[in-house]
Amino acid sequence: MRVLAFLDGKLADPEAAHLRVDDLGLLRGDGVFETILVTGEKPRELRPHLDRLARSAAMLELPEPDLEGFERAARAVIDHWTGGREIALKLVYTRGIDGDPAGGPTAFAVGLEIDEKVQRARAEGVAAVLLERGFAPDVAERAPWLLLGAKTVSYAVNMAALREAGRRGADDVIFTAADGSVLEGPTSTVVIAKGRTLYTPPSSVGILPGTTQHALFRGAEKAGWTVKVEPLEAADLTTADGVFLASSVRLVTRVHTLDGAPLPDSAALHRELVEIYESEY
Ligand code: PLP
Repeated sequence: MRVLAFLDGKLADPEAAHLRVDDLGLLRGDGVFETILVTGEKPRELRPHLDRLARSAAMLELPEPDLEGFERAARAVIDHWTGGREIALKLVYTRGIDGDPAGGPTAFAVGLEIDEKVQRARAEGVAAVLLERGFAPDVAERAPWLLLGAKTVSYAVNMAALREAGRRGADDVIFTAADGSVLEGPTSTVVIAKGRTLYTPPSSVGILPGTTQHALFRGAEKAGWTVKVEPLEAADLTTADGVFLASSVRLVTRVHTLDGAPLPDSAALHRELVEIYESEY
């Protein structure tokens, strides 16, 4: 099941061709996107996702996105969905046609089923490997053209890292910076628990500010946890009571194995954090 809508709220056939072959999103990965989880017909953290779409677009110097149009398209997808209980709702915004700036950006929303792999990761947790990302944690500010922290459609590196994890017998990746500090997953934010404190690295190290992590920390604070956004070393992962990967569609999944070595059993902690995240819904 998939449902496609454009910003005027009109539906289109998701099996038909709608993009031109010279769309810069396709030719150069020159565009941005968001993936939002819809449950019970409600898009979760919609405003933070729309704000981040606008922020990513600004980093790429794209025209300001029509957020009302994106909301309209999202609503059209949700209203016409007849598939599973949840929707992975993607908002896509590219620079449009090469050499035709007057043509304007390409923009659409598409609803997709949740991958079976994601369902399994939610239930069983994942084995992750540390892979180097190759940049220093202070480069994001010095070199904004690297677009670190923008959610661009150029995810080829992220997907390659996941294939490398597969080759190493793992399911997912935690990227490290050139100094060995913790960055993020290819499609997730890293959260660790130590005692009653949750930690995540700051987006200033060149990572995407996660909407799921943000909502989780909001809920955790209300539930009496301390939350800290500060740089993490790889060693913090192995000494933590729990390591988690958070993202909109996977929610909060636990990492049970890191680089082939089992981590402490965090199943009870995981249940607690999932409950906290759900309480923010
Ligand atoms: N970091 C990266 C690189 C991502 O691609 C994602 C989501 O896909 C996240 C973090 C988590 O963001 P969110 O919780 O807003 O889905």
